[in-house]
Amino acid sequence: MKLNPYFADLDESYFFSEMRARTDAYAAMHPDEHLYRMGIGDVTQPLCPAVIQGLMRGVRDQSTMETFHGYLFECGTDFLRSAIAEHYATRGVTLFPEEIFITSGAGDEIGALGDLFSSDNTVLVTEPAYPAYVDTSIMGGRRIVHLPSGKADGFLPMPVPDLKADLIFLCSPNNPTGAAYTKAQLKEWVDYANTQEAVILFDAAYEAFITDSDVPHSIFEIDGAERCAIEICSLSKTAGFTGTRCGYTIVPNALIRNGQSLRALWVRSRTTKTNGISYILQRGAEAVFTPAGQAQTKASIAVYQENARIWMDALDRAGLWYTGGRNAPYIWVACPNGRSSWAMFDLLLTKAQIIVTPGVGFGACGEGFFRISMFSEPSEASAAAERFLSLMQTL
Ligand code: PLP
Repeated sequence: MKLNPYFADLDESYFFSEMRARTDAYAAMHPDEHLYRMGIGDVTQPLCPAVIQGLMRGVRDQSTMETFHGYLFECGTDFLRSAIAEHYATRGVTLFPEEIFITSGAGDEIGALGDLFSSDNTVLVTEPAYPAYVDTSIMGGRRIVHLPSGKADGFLPMPVPDLKADLIFLCSPNNPTGAAYTKAQLKEWVDYANTQEAVILFDAAYEAFITDSDVPHSIFEIDGAERCAIEICSLSKTAGFTGTRCGYTIVPNALIRNGQSLRALWVRSRTTKTNGISYILQRGAEAVFTPAGQAQTKASIAVYQENARIWMDALDRAGLWYTGGRNAPYIWVACPNGRSSWAMFDLLLTKAQIIVTPGVGFGACGEGFFRISMFSEPSEASAAAERFLSLMQTL
């Protein structure tokens, strides 16, 4: 018996444990001080009433002989797939319900989709990056090409014609930088992928935070994307499902490689490896796409958007360079006076009791930056932003 040898190639997940260790050590030394936790990528607002009603309906249905459901189709129920297709139609994107796969979230899919591709492939990861893109590629034994970004391109790296890749991870709006590709920029990526016959794995986990009209919510708003892209979506940040777990992945019928339909292969994978998502959850998820669900989830997102407005105002007043905030629940800030990410982490923790995420944890080009998360209570966000500004004015 041989273990997967590629686990040995993974970096120690030292980064987040180090953040925790430094925070815990500070808290132990200063038990009376309140910490402002602006490093967490998890929602704070509860599920909205429409979703709760949907979940309750699911529970009730399971309680009577007439409405009870046993095993469901592994790829998702017709009612939820149709609700999502109708939602995409409102954005001018035509999808067949069969192209939509109901999932337990984006995290599971980022790893599972590797099933479709040989390990003998090169994966392009734009950096700074959500760590799962790198780690799942390593576990799958794939070569990784890192495409760094920085201030000069606004942390929106564009394709490099000579760079050859088979799989491309794109995340827009981006975690950690909050930067989001415009339609014109995404069109360049789609053309590049089609020319190279590569497949884009497009992570749209934060699409619900987009406010700019030239930023697409779905890669399928771009001509030609149906021939090169898989979209990974999640209700985690859209509707507060981080602890409830439901998402969806779109694999278009037109996506063909080596004469094979990737959608058909994905049906084969799912029907073999899962028994699908619970009926109750799918009723809760369906409610997100009703008019009441849309209005209520937008109201929750508006709370985080207001936090972003407060923080952007503080950063403008401090005169710091940043990206994100407008289309994402993250703001990515350049450390003042050439400080390193960890020096900034320590400074904010010890002098203002604010916890942020050091940018270097998302790839080498994140050094010199830090991420602020907007997932917090408004009173916390505004108090933290005020403390931050006061501290910056003393530097
Ligand atoms: N993709 C990105 C970019 C994320 O930031 C996250 C979670 O923070 C995920 C995927 C995972 O989301 P889910 O909760 O749907 O697994």
